[in-house]
Amino acid sequence: MTDKTVLVTGATGAQGGGVVRHLLRSHKYRVRCLTRNPNSDQANALKLAGAEVRRGNLDDPASLCEALEGSWGVFGVTNYWEHFAKELPQGKNLVDAVRAAKVPHLIYSTLPYVKKLTGGKIEVPHFDLKGEIEEHARELKLGATFVNVAFYFENFIHFFPPQKNADLSYAFAFPQGDVPLAGVAVEDLGGVVAAIFADPEAFRDKTVGVVGDDLPCAEYAATMSRVLGKKVVYSHMPREQYAALGFPGADDLANMFEYNRLHIPNRQADIHESLRLYPGMQRFEPWVKENKAALLNVLT
Ligand code: NAP
Repeated sequence: MTDKTVLVTGATGAQGGGVVRHLLRSHKYRVRCLTRNPNSDQANALKLAGAEVRRGNLDDPASLCEALEGSWGVFGVTNYWEHFAKELPQGKNLVDAVRAAKVPHLIYSTLPYVKKLTGGKIEVPHFDLKGEIEEHARELKLGATFVNVAFYFENFIHFFPPQKNADLSYAFAFPQGDVPLAGVAVEDLGGVVAAIFADPEAFRDKTVGVVGDDLPCAEYAATMSRVLGKKVVYSHMPREQYAALGFPGADDLANMFEYNRLHIPNRQADIHESLRLYPGMQRFEPWVKENKAALLNVLT
């Protein structure tokens, strides 16, 4: 154990949780977790695992300054799907607090600034706000590192489980066409983040794409069919049809798939870099085997 303290935001969630677990396992850091609810079950589990838990809120800069005291590093993630447009001021609050506290190493979970990259043709608010946060950090010359996390494999359990058809097969549809969709087991982000903190100078001002596999959606479906013993089928859904599905963020997600389909032919280079940094990165098939019970549970 060294005296290097790393503050992790989103520690009770998917990205930050994996980061906390990997950093603790490395035995190189004191890990401090930011949460609005230090007595939640998730926060208690983090304490049991050996982390320190601090109350704080990304809306409250004073709480961030307090939590950052004495920190050597920060892993930052903001949650668009809870706060929507407020993600931007929350992210800027964290970046500004890191600067004020002169924390030497920041790793921030961002996504490409699609609106800017496409000259305003495609807008993906949950990407674009993170792109703006990244620009803010770059303007302040913090020498931060940015991680771009791919579509979680876990989305097939929590957000987009294949739906039962009348013929007892299961189906999902995205506006992704036949272009590979980059995916990742979200826990593996922690392995990549731990590798970056182990050699932070090498990653200053860089962006690392965190990707475990990069398959056409028909392959994700075929893999689930093979491992789960259920017929799972993918079909392309046109962007407009997906955007009209009516759930909050449908338009945003439709544009995300559209951007992927039109502008990201593959993420092989990111797979190789992620594997180099963390050889334990999971491909989709082993992940499905590992999560077979949870997947079968959402199907039935
Ligand atoms: P998550 O599992 O839903 O957890 C959200 C975390 O954010 C919790 O730890 C929560 O902590 C914390 N949080 C929320 N509001 C906060 C606030 N005001 N102050 C302090 N902490 C706050 O989230 P996640 O999946 O790790 O990360 C979400 C982000 O990932 C989203 O912005 C999304 O766009 C991005 N993303 C998702 C995917 C995907 O495929 N799903 C891929 C790439 C990127 P407490 O509740 O304990 O306070």
